[in-house]
Amino acid sequence: MSAPQSLRVVAPAPLLQVDGVSLEYRTRQRVVRATHQVSFDVHAADRFVLLGPSGCGKSTLLKAVAGFVAPSEGEIRLEGRRVAAPGPDRVVVFQEFDQLPPWKTVRQNIMFPLRQARGMSRAQASECALHYLDKVGLAGFADAYPHTLSGGMKQRVAIARALAMRPKVLLMDEPFAALDALTRRRMQEELLALWEDAAFTLLFVTHSIEEALVVGNRILLLSPHPGRVRAELNSHQFDLASQGGAEFQATAQRIHRLLFETGTAGGAEGTTASARTAQAR
Ligand code: ADP
Ligand code: MG
Repeated sequence: MSAPQSLRVVAPAPLLQVDGVSLEYRTRQRVVRATHQVSFDVHAADRFVLLGPSGCGKSTLLKAVAGFVAPSEGEIRLEGRRVAAPGPDRVVVFQEFDQLPPWKTVRQNIMFPLRQARGMSRAQASECALHYLDKVGLAGFADAYPHTLSGGMKQRVAIARALAMRPKVLLMDEPFAALDALTRRRMQEELLALWEDAAFTLLFVTHSIEEALVVGNRILLLSPHPGRVRAELNSHQFDLASQGGAEFQATAQRIHRLLFETGTAGGAEGTTASARTAQAR
């Protein structure tokens, strides 16, 4: 007996589709190609990591998803609709500690986009700001000014501000790269705890293989400039506790080879056409 139609399993459509996207910077003298025909899908509640060496176009890709840079080729779709401009459904957390306007308190920093883009009343925005400050452990600093906070605390505020907007995709561009090693580790842990709590969809950029393995459930490896897809890996089995373990180390080494060995033997993995088949599981 064949299964009734209604029982057929249908894979959910990806939340975010990056489809053959090339990105370029045009100056008067020349055109710089930042990425070449990059494709990947991000599903709801993914922690999707873009990993590659400096200059491979990770930040440019994130800016394109955010709607600040238009593809010269290909298309980016969010819930099936082409991304053409920035919007409150995509919020970016940057590496720099100065992303919070210094003349606003921590609470006002979080309230501002809630009032502007979400149309919340002052009272609603304040309540929402305190809720998310509590989630990042900074409830006691609501009325502090950013310059009185440490780098890690400023990044927590930026994360609270982003999560408070309840974006469809949270975009993070090397958010912990400027922190000391211990703080960075703690922030990775906290980010994962926040995700356990709220299961938001994350698109996270890093050039650190270890960070990619810890933070991501899926990792897209990009070749050096211009960025092309080298491979896509599942990494949900790794977390902070597995860091340093044998399987973790072996995977880190394999990623290192995929990223940096451009020799002829690995040539097949370097082309965009075959990269999607180089899935390592
Ligand atoms: P990543 O974040 O991976 O380090 P980027 O996306 O910042 O890489 O940059 C990708 C490439 O685009 C690099 O070669 C960089 O020099 C170039 N690039 C970045 N921003 C600009 C810009 N505003 N004008 C011209 N070229 C740029
Ligand atoms: Mg960058």
